[in-house]
Amino acid sequence: MNNGLLVWEAFAPTDDVPYSEVIPTNDDRPHTFGPACSCHPFWDENALVHNSFDGREAYEVGARMKS
Ligand SMILES: [Zn+2]
Repeated sequence: MNNGLLVWEAFAPTDDVPYSEVIPTNDDRPHTFGPACSCHPFWDENALVHNSFDGREAYEVGARMKS
């Protein structure tokens, strides 16, 4: 068994983006950097954490409705 593809990549702050960003890799749909991503990323401290499209969430987010 190899489930190693379900990983999250962390991007360090840069001159253009003054916060860390955590994005799931190899997701069902592509992500764009920044809070306007269609996955509705959320803030965790100073990091912008993206929601996966394939449902790999490690977080329990009660407000997230999925039909
Ligand atoms: Zn995203």
